[in-house]
Amino acid sequence: MTSAVDTQADNGAVQAQYDVDVAIIGAGPAGLTAGYLLSRQGYKVAIIEKDQTYVGGISRTVEHEGYRFDIGGHRFFSKSQAVVDLWNEILPDDFIQRPRMSRIYYEGKFYSYPLRAFEALGNLGIMRSTACMASYVWSRFFPIKEVRSFEDWTSNQFGKKLYSIFFKTYTEKVWGMPCDEMSADWAAQRIKGLSLGAAVLDGLKRSLGLNKRPNNGMQTKTLLETFRYPRLGPGMMWDAARDRIVEAGSTVLMGHGLKQLASDGQGGWRMTATRAEGGETVIRAAHAISSAPMRELAARIHPLPQTTLEASRLRYRDFLTVALKIRSEDLFPDNWIYIHDSKVRVGRIQNFRSWSPEMVPDDGVACVGLEYFCFEGDDLWASTDDALIELATREMAILGLVRPDQVIGGAVVRQEKAYPVYDDEYAANVAAMRDELEAAYPTLHMVGRNGMHRYNNQDHAMMTAMLSVENIIAGERVYDIWCVNEDAEYHEAGDEGETKTLPNRPGHRDISADQQAALDSVRAVPARVARANRIAA
Ligand SMILES: Cc1cc2nc3c(=O)[nH]c(=O)nc-3n(C[C@H](O)[C@H](O)[C@H](O)COP(=O)(O)OP(=O)(O)OC[C@H]3O[C@@H](n4cnc5c(N)ncnc54)[C@H](O)[C@@H]3O)c2cc1C
Repeated sequence: MTSAVDTQADNGAVQAQYDVDVAIIGAGPAGLTAGYLLSRQGYKVAIIEKDQTYVGGISRTVEHEGYRFDIGGHRFFSKSQAVVDLWNEILPDDFIQRPRMSRIYYEGKFYSYPLRAFEALGNLGIMRSTACMASYVWSRFFPIKEVRSFEDWTSNQFGKKLYSIFFKTYTEKVWGMPCDEMSADWAAQRIKGLSLGAAVLDGLKRSLGLNKRPNNGMQTKTLLETFRYPRLGPGMMWDAARDRIVEAGSTVLMGHGLKQLASDGQGGWRMTATRAEGGETVIRAAHAISSAPMRELAARIHPLPQTTLEASRLRYRDFLTVALKIRSEDLFPDNWIYIHDSKVRVGRIQNFRSWSPEMVPDDGVACVGLEYFCFEGDDLWASTDDALIELATREMAILGLVRPDQVIGGAVVRQEKAYPVYDDEYAANVAAMRDELEAAYPTLHMVGRNGMHRYNNQDHAMMTAMLSVENIIAGERVYDIWCVNEDAEYHEAGDEGETKTLPNRPGHRDISADQQAALDSVRAVPARVARANRIAA
């Protein structure tokens, strides 16, 4: 049951206290999925969300004077029917099916993605095309023998010239490290099965109209021709989930940041949250679910876990979007454009009117989101909003996509911890914290993207929450949400010869193929080439 008591604190600030079944940290897809399912089963939950305005976390939709934009465009796609069913249940009437179009921009020209051979040759011009072919032939005859890095692998596969045009700049913008320091494994995994010969053949067929498919064999991976999208953006899904939770009698507390999660000594929890407007709220619960970054959680658990130091070493890549409001009836048709040009710092440009016409207030305007990948505190992150809007306006002009006089306003959204970083140590640090907390606290459940330090999509975050809810209902950890799809690096940290795919632990229920489909959607992230190899290179 929920019971809220407002009391007067010594310093005059009002303090509220809730007694619930489950206390949840974070109103992103993971936290709201857990809250929604628990409320539906009659459990009372209280969710704390540090953002004062928006639920949805990284999947929120920000609104600014009638313009709506995502933190990156969010497609709703899952191979898990259970996740799709849940989306349809929460938002039955508001999904639209949108055509997908995205191109690569390089030195003033657009390249279809996937590439079309004649178009690419025409865009590159005869000199550069010849140079690309020559460098490809060179790489066939004289490949780099000891392949260590992304650069080595991709240059061998496509030739140095094509690597520098279609891979180097964008990859470095996104990950913030040079391609010659990224591991070759990631390239092999990411660009698996794509060879220049096959791409040229496919592109020739495409140019001649003989191949209408989005791409040979890659449809399921990256190239869905259409996608589903809530008509007012992904935030619409998460607003609806919040509303249903509240209708069921539970609580979503906005502007509440986790201050402390203390064991109550009886297997339950006493969660303290700091209110943005001052004062504190206390929530007492039998279970706690956390979608907060593992690093933050570790520092706020009382008593402090022994692995707080390991958790403090987890790192993140951050992200900011500069949304520009533009007077234009006919902006480019793409949903997004990859910017491979090194003259500008923007990595990708979203065109939100192409995601849904309802993302803009009328037909005469458009809203683009210029995405800058950065680290919290670097020069981009620390720039003022005005300076970033000016930079974005200037870069749109340099790219020839929008004239400065078409820009009628702008807004900046900074997203800290957008990408969990997979460095040499991360798997061991995550495993250490997880092992300690799971052994000590059967009623603490870590879920979601930063909550499990996994680079995943919404469906994965949701499935980890869905299975944790099953665990809470069962009164024991019947599902092991960590054991599925362990990545190779974690296993490499263990004993040689250990099995690569961990079976569920004894005593745990088997994960169904459908559940596994969502848990398997974790995306690959480049690791740094080991230091010894970098020095040797
Ligand atoms: C650029 C980009 C594009 C993406 N595109 C897609 C896509 O097309 N499709 C897709 O399915 N997924 C996409 N994703 C991934 C998707 O955004 C995430 O998988 C999803 O949002 C993770 O949900 P979550 O609830 O685990 O975490 P989050 O979304 O991070 O939510 C966590 C919530 O917890 C709150 N919180 C954190 N710490 C505290 C604290 N101490 N106290 C209180 N509250 C706290 C945060 O404010 C946040 O609201 C994309 C991500 C990025 C960065």
